[in-house]
Amino acid sequence: MEQYILAITYLVASVLFIFGLKMLGDPKTARNGNLLAALGMGLAILATMAFHKNDAGERIGNYGWIIGGLVVGTIAGWISAKKVKMTAMPQMVSLFNGMGGACAALISISEYDHLMQRSGTATVGVLLTMVAGLVIGSVSFSGSMIAFAKLQGIMKKNIRLPFYNIINILLMLGIVVFSAMIVAQIPADPYPYFYGVFALSLVYGILFVIPIGGADMPVVISLLNSFTGVAAAFGGFLYDNQVMLTGGILVGSAGTLLTIVMCRAMNRSLMNVVFGGFGSGAKSVEGSAREGGNVKATSVSDVAILLNYARKVIVVPGYGLAVAQAQHAIHEMETILEEKGVEVKYAIHPVAGRMPGHMNVLLAEANVAYEKLSEMEEVNPEFPTTDVVLVVGANDVVNPAAKSDPSSPIFGMPVLNVEEARNVIVVKRSMNTGYAGIDNELFGYDNCSMLFADAKTAITQVVSELKNL
Ligand code: NDP
Repeated sequence: MEQYILAITYLVASVLFIFGLKMLGDPKTARNGNLLAALGMGLAILATMAFHKNDAGERIGNYGWIIGGLVVGTIAGWISAKKVKMTAMPQMVSLFNGMGGACAALISISEYDHLMQRSGTATVGVLLTMVAGLVIGSVSFSGSMIAFAKLQGIMKKNIRLPFYNIINILLMLGIVVFSAMIVAQIPADPYPYFYGVFALSLVYGILFVIPIGGADMPVVISLLNSFTGVAAAFGGFLYDNQVMLTGGILVGSAGTLLTIVMCRAMNRSLMNVVFGGFGSGAKSVEGSAREGGNVKATSVSDVAILLNYARKVIVVPGYGLAVAQAQHAIHEMETILEEKGVEVKYAIHPVAGRMPGHMNVLLAEANVAYEKLSEMEEVNPEFPTTDVVLVVGANDVVNPAAKSDPSSPIFGMPVLNVEEARNVIVVKRSMNTGYAGIDNELFGYDNCSMLFADAKTAITQVVSELKNL
């Protein structure tokens, strides 16, 4: 009977994961989707603790350790999720992902040891599953830790060792040979080989991520996230646990799809992200906008007047909006302009900010209506009929060099064609570059003016000027 309850609970949990994941695809339902998936996970854990029995009919035991782990994990997760700033979200995802990878690797280590102590042998399938979970989980763990260190600014340099490719190939070869020996049960004492695979995989994860630049880190995290999912799925195979298998497959496939979507949005191949140099060496080029010299600064009152008499305004939010936390001020400006009969919408670039959906989340937090957010393909044809484009803390995603300069590191990345509007106002603090580290010739265009200020300060001032007009 208990086995049936367990099986049904796993089924319910799997369904909750699937619905939760589906709901994450829309900002309106994302919060509830997350809760639903968490409920599924909670159910699966409780049911396992209550009803799972091993082949000998024994319950799990070790309840003190399990509950202790749950309490420590819940408190740490809760506090860090509450405290984390939106701009630091990618490194938190990286840290959490690393923990998932470490779990998968530790499961393989503990199960292998258990198996060896108990019977000293296993089928090829079981050994293969253990070794695969160990390798993928370890690579994901050490790679995620390096990604975290890079995003947190702890590790500032991108390191490419001499003979990098040769070292990597040798490492991979070592992992494959040792793994094959373990699975074929060749060594009399397999432990050194097993821990050898563990160590080599950790080193491989480190070497895999250290040469990759900061701008590519979100793609790498998404890729490592898919690794963790696959490693967890191997754990599901190992324990013959359906919910772990489903969860792992969902994470693995969602991570893979997200990696593909992000690469497409930047018009880069995965190979180029992993082995290429974008964001790894691009230095600030004292560039066209400054040399062209035609950069015009404007004032808060001029911007307010321009907006007041416009018929259509498109706001382009970027990373700087998140840094300044200007989302509430922007929403207030939008409300005032709409009351004055101005049509306002937001143009959302798929990689604006520092993580997928960054701008959607920020604007949703300020209660901006979802219907006002337009995706890049949908909004690009509208710029020629727009009176004012207000670029708030965005830079790379509106850089025309992506279309016109084949030597630019972002050449080929689809961008928002803001320069086609009648007037472009860019709100940022200086002429500093964005994440890709390149200048933006848009700032020197005739129809573009710069409002040099912190985004929140500037928009708040525009709002009070608008109220007086
Ligand atoms: P950018 O990083 O290009 O530019 C942000 C700009 O914001 C900076 O130039 C900065 O200029 C300005 N800024 C910073 N703080 C403030 C502030 N307080 N007030 C006003 N402005 C401020 O951002 P985008 O959003 O345009 O582009 C995102 C970049 O990140 C792209 O290169 C993209 O490829 C990359 N990326 C994004 C991913 C994602 O998933 N979203 C994934 C991978 C990469 P200043 O210092 O002068 O104020």
